[in-house]
Amino acid sequence: MRISNARKYGAAFFLSLGLIVLVSCWSPEVTQTAESSLQQAQTLATGMTQQLITQTPQTPRFGQPIDCQLGQDCFILLYPDRDPSPNAVDFGCGRQTYDDHQGTDFAIPDEQAMARGVPVIASQAGTVLRVRDGVVDQRVANEADKTAVTGTECGNGVVIDHGSIPQGTGWETQYCHLRQGSIQVKPGDQVEKGTVLGLVGASGLASFPHVHLTLRYNGQVIDPFVGPGATAGCNVTRHPIWEKPLAYIPTGLIRAGFSTQPPTMDELWQGKFNETILPENSPALLFWVQVYGVLTGDKMIFNLDDPQGNKVVNNETFVNESSKTWMAYVGKRNNPQQPFTPGTWNAEYQLIRGDRTLVKTQRQLILKAEKSN
Ligand SMILES: [Zn+2]
Repeated sequence: MRISNARKYGAAFFLSLGLIVLVSCWSPEVTQTAESSLQQAQTLATGMTQQLITQTPQTPRFGQPIDCQLGQDCFILLYPDRDPSPNAVDFGCGRQTYDDHQGTDFAIPDEQAMARGVPVIASQAGTVLRVRDGVVDQRVANEADKTAVTGTECGNGVVIDHGSIPQGTGWETQYCHLRQGSIQVKPGDQVEKGTVLGLVGASGLASFPHVHLTLRYNGQVIDPFVGPGATAGCNVTRHPIWEKPLAYIPTGLIRAGFSTQPPTMDELWQGKFNETILPENSPALLFWVQVYGVLTGDKMIFNLDDPQGNKVVNNETFVNESSKTWMAYVGKRNNPQQPFTPGTWNAEYQLIRGDRTLVKTQRQLILKAEKSN
């Protein structure tokens, strides 16, 4: 996936004599396709093959392409686009996709998780067809970054032919944006389901660390949440081809934490501001959240309590523009006349849509007393 323009929305509300800050930032929107450069001659799909593809008992099943616990240490950020027009819609009629996005993006929280290493694994047994490595992991943030990856949009990638699955002939999987130097297979290798192919990275046209998985049957892209033979659009009859059902969670938490300065989206993807202990003389204390899939009108509640249980922030606000990724923070500047109280500070964030609480998370920070001499 990529970021297409540099729109940024910022709003600052200074409450109670300028001590408390609430700033929301919507990340630039994602609007254009990627990850097709390993397809090469895989564009043989015709209207005829399209009609012939239907769900059969022989249709193979595919596992998630990443060795992590979905909803805990990884999440699905973007789905295949099911709208053939220049608009985009995911299978759940949501907006967690972009025009002509052909795969599913399994994301990890930040580049620190990426550095620790999260394995990309084969979704099914097969034979490695093509491999590319050597593309630098550099998240795309603007048009110049995008131009720089022209021709290598998939980044470091692997394509597997699943023709060896009994009666599963014609299936292919493609894995994109792997970490530079991490690919562990070569063309001709036989792999099993779960074989490690490499590590999650951010190479090619990627604006966050993730692995993009495209499924193809006879060269035609298949949305694994819907299965072959489905009509275009959302809320169609679905026959998912995942081995185990994968939940549709179009809104969720990426990370939350504390900082002593306003974070940027870029810094959050880098993995900064994960401290749980900070000095009491910090210039400010901010509680930040990074979430995906916010919609216009979503209600957000922020709470920040000092160690005595006093409400330093108790703020309710509404999202004023839908966004695929989003961040906000609240907090307080340190005041020499009334300095921060050392001890455990408690923060809570809720994202509410209608009568449903979609995200609720708590964090604790220890403000450490300075040593007296
Ligand atoms: Zn993708």
